[in-house]
Amino acid sequence: MGSKRNLLKRDQHFLMDERVLRRMADYAEIRKGEKILEIGAGTGNLTNFLVENGGKVYAIEKDRDLFKMLEDEFSSSNCEIICGDALKMDLPDFDRVVSNLPYSISSGMTFKILEHNFSMGILTYQLEFARRLLGAVGSRNYGRLTIGVSYRAKVEFLEKVSRSAFYPVPKVDSAIVRMVPGEPTFHFTDEASEKFFFKFVNAVFTQRRKKLKNAIRNTTHLFAEGKSMEEIFPLLNEKFKDYLELRPYELSPKTLSEISNLIYNELCATSSND
Ligand code: SAM
Repeated sequence: MGSKRNLLKRDQHFLMDERVLRRMADYAEIRKGEKILEIGAGTGNLTNFLVENGGKVYAIEKDRDLFKMLEDEFSSSNCEIICGDALKMDLPDFDRVVSNLPYSISSGMTFKILEHNFSMGILTYQLEFARRLLGAVGSRNYGRLTIGVSYRAKVEFLEKVSRSAFYPVPKVDSAIVRMVPGEPTFHFTDEASEKFFFKFVNAVFTQRRKKLKNAIRNTTHLFAEGKSMEEIFPLLNEKFKDYLELRPYELSPKTLSEISNLIYNELCATSSND
């Protein structure tokens, strides 16, 4: 890394272990001519392997000093360096995304990527974040993140990466995951009920240790118009009595979606009659 070390700023941790970098590029199974997106190219250590693996690489880097250095280094290769904040800009079209994501934008960037049409992501996250992506129903890692991402993609744990593989060494370990977008395993009748579901999940998971029946009672801000909660409970009790006694994290995304749909439909019917 040599003189590149002088360019380091706070919160920048570069993956130095070439075997891990090589594996990240290989996991992506890049085919000739595919467009590869890298977010946070840093000093270009992963970018090198992506270019080598044959794709057309779009590498985004926010830091202007690193951007200039990347431009010099990759000027003659099949790689376009883009300077800017990946969270704020329109992303170029891509087939695969391979990135050692900055920890601070892991969540926002993951949901942003998932709004795009692509075939595979190979992404390095903080280990704890990766565990939350993969949280099993009923476990402490299962929550809003698990539900939001699993609705849009299949996530697979590939390997743990020790903190010692980075320079400067961060305080936490990392993990590489594969993300393959796909059809959701549960469905909504329209966009509004889908939106409602994610608000509902956010609301009940902020009270994850409460029984669902109580967590729902504390979400009336979502149901401002129409019938009162008391009118909805008989219906909920009829269909989901046992589930209401459980905590939100003990319910699968599908069951939560059924409960959310019932509440949504009931409220919509009410407001359309108003
Ligand atoms: N790809 C390199 C590697 O694997 O070693 C660098 C990874 S480092 C964890 C993350 C990089 O993302 C840093 O270079 C940082 O400047 C950049 N970065 C941070 N926030 C960003 C953002 N919002 N948009 C684009 N790049 C960002």
